[in-house]
Amino acid sequence: MSPPPVLPGATLGVMGGGQLGRMFVQAAQSMGYFTAVLDPDVTSPAGLVAHHHITADYLDAQGLAQLMERSAAITTEFENVPAGALATLGAQRPVAPTADAVAVCQDRAAEKAQFARSGVPCAPYALIDTPTQLAAVSDALLPGILKTARLGYDGKGQAVVADRAALAAAWHRLGQVPCVLEQKLALALELSVVVARSASGALVQLPVQQNLHRSGILAVTQVPSPDASPALQQQAAAAAAQLAADLAYVGVLCVEFFVTTDGALVANEMAPRPHNSGHWSIDGADVCQFGLQVRTLCGLPLVAPRQHSAAVMLNLLGDLWFDAGGAEHTPPWAQVLALPGAHLHLYGKTSARPGRKMGHLTVTAATPGQARATALQAAALLGLPAF
Ligand code: ADP
Ligand code: MG
Repeated sequence: MSPPPVLPGATLGVMGGGQLGRMFVQAAQSMGYFTAVLDPDVTSPAGLVAHHHITADYLDAQGLAQLMERSAAITTEFENVPAGALATLGAQRPVAPTADAVAVCQDRAAEKAQFARSGVPCAPYALIDTPTQLAAVSDALLPGILKTARLGYDGKGQAVVADRAALAAAWHRLGQVPCVLEQKLALALELSVVVARSASGALVQLPVQQNLHRSGILAVTQVPSPDASPALQQQAAAAAAQLAADLAYVGVLCVEFFVTTDGALVANEMAPRPHNSGHWSIDGADVCQFGLQVRTLCGLPLVAPRQHSAAVMLNLLGDLWFDAGGAEHTPPWAQVLALPGAHLHLYGKTSARPGRKMGHLTVTAATPGQARATALQAAALLGLPAF
């Protein structure tokens, strides 16, 4: 028998105070939960809006004890929360996702082993932990992308390497930490799928999302995907569901995919949490990915989300706060908000830096064509490239 659900009125805890934690807190609060965030940064986006902010390091025993004391159930908002901390919490409180599932997504080698177990193809790769493994790399993997096995995000901890000399130099630059070398694939498209799975095995998904990255950072998400065929979308959705089931996953999981120029679908990576590419669901679907996170954490029923509007999301990076001469300015929000269906989300970060995720803008409309046209207007106002 499953335990009784954690009902509104209870306090939900979050490990991590970034924007994903903030949007989780906002979703939980709108359902009548109280919230507690553990993050060492006093100005963390989620800490600023939560009822309780425990400013402590993720491994601080006292901080973890305080979070447990406050919270009826605990989730995480970023995958680099030490799995050990989640295990500590999980011994005393419901924690979703579990430390084991997060550990797989934290490590590109473990993640690729999971893809293989689940029969989901990924890019050809080699593990590089030692100089011997480096020397033994097949030429077929070059040109490739060297990625640290752990702690990478937004294209950080990665290097494109053209040949063996560049590979060796890049591995040294990355500190000779355990890495994976992936063959650099010719990409036609990037897709992602957000899945929510409950402890009882119920599973629901958001529609397939089409993503455009610039400099390794997500720039634009379009839903529905304008370019993926129904068959490809079906394949991506099925692979994501398979992975969630095989991981006995509880919570929200996002699987990123590549579609190669010859039409093959391969898995890229997984995030054990809501994902930047699912932010459109706040405004474009009747249940958003953060609402799904609340439901899975609390053991509440999962209902299939329904997309009620076509949506295009533009990420708002810190670059937008600087003009060509490098002087800081405020982006033209009033003009952007004059566009029909524009939903502005800013994360309350106190200072802008190039490449830093400051917020996102979702444009919703009755048709994909309208959403795209309006999003292109917004992009032009903000000085972002067309897509
Ligand atoms: P991150 O954890 O930073 O999101 P990813 O592994 O998802 O790292 O890589 C970021 C982006 O870099 C991808 O979305 C894709 O655009 C590009 N990329 C990564 N791996 C490959 C690859 N093997 N072939 C081609 N492009 C890749
Ligand atoms: Mg990625």
